[in-house]
Amino acid sequence: MRPVAYARATDTAAAIAFVGGDPHAEFIAGGTNVIDLMKDDVARPSTLVDITRLPLRGITPTAASVRIGALARMSEVADHPAMQTNFPAVVQALNDSASPQLRNMATIGGNVMQRTRCAYFRDVSQPCNKRAPGAGCAAIGGVNRLHSVIGTSPHCICTHASDLAVALVMADAVIHTRGANGERSIPLADFYLLPGATPQRETVLERGELIEAIEIPVSTPARRSVYLKVRDRRQYEFALVSVAAGLDVQDGTIRAARVALGGVAPKPWRAHDVEAQLLGRPANAQTFAAAAAAVSAGMHGFGENDFKVPLAGRAVARALAMTEAVA
Ligand code: SF4
Repeated sequence: MRPVAYARATDTAAAIAFVGGDPHAEFIAGGTNVIDLMKDDVARPSTLVDITRLPLRGITPTAASVRIGALARMSEVADHPAMQTNFPAVVQALNDSASPQLRNMATIGGNVMQRTRCAYFRDVSQPCNKRAPGAGCAAIGGVNRLHSVIGTSPHCICTHASDLAVALVMADAVIHTRGANGERSIPLADFYLLPGATPQRETVLERGELIEAIEIPVSTPARRSVYLKVRDRRQYEFALVSVAAGLDVQDGTIRAARVALGGVAPKPWRAHDVEAQLLGRPANAQTFAAAAAAVSAGMHGFGENDFKVPLAGRAVARALAMTEAVA
């Protein structure tokens, strides 16, 4: 690894000003992603600003929402009673992520900011527009079994790596930030950017802008939700396809539906077209199968990942059926 300076932040405003004023400085909390990237020489920060002492760790439930401090650890959030009662899909996504050791270290804010697992992005000998804009994309025409089938561009076809973010997008979570221009509240669905011609820009965050908390509104679909992760092995593996799904069913009829997919796009993919197919229909296998057929609209593979298109539909139908078992 290259030499890097270290600074421990004791004041939020000062940390924001420091990172905002140095284009190569980065925040560090759990360190489970940025240190890996530094070892691979993909990340080359001048200074790591350690924010772990900032007061951003609390989990605050109210009748309307649960607010999670950005520094709360993944395992703390998964174990919290208010999360288990209100957001089973979020808890399942957390427990299906990484390993117990990593979940004890990694923070919620860091999880939603983790970088893609595209192998070419992490191999500095390969062309990658995300790491080196204008260099090309080795995955298009290369080994792309794990790559996206929707939301791609001719410049990048990577997938977003976070399980948690998929469940949060399904649950209409909002990110609260603080930066040089003050505070913002951003729906997570609007937080991530598709690659387009600038795959190096992944979120709407400005330089130095810090995630302070993630807030999830309480709702019936979120309370009756599941997270289904299809992967090559049972543990410590990223999703081939994942689905977060939640339904509000009254007298056998679907009154509200939320569906989001992971492993298929460069950002957590909210499936509004599938949700529209479900509204007002009976909650049964025929409805779920018909809605799942809408999933593949607009999807196409790049060779090795063609299997993801039919798999996404089957996973959505199965996840919707699983919601019936959630009280
Ligand atoms: Fe880089 Fe994206 Fe291409 Fe992977 S898919 S090599 S991250 S540009």
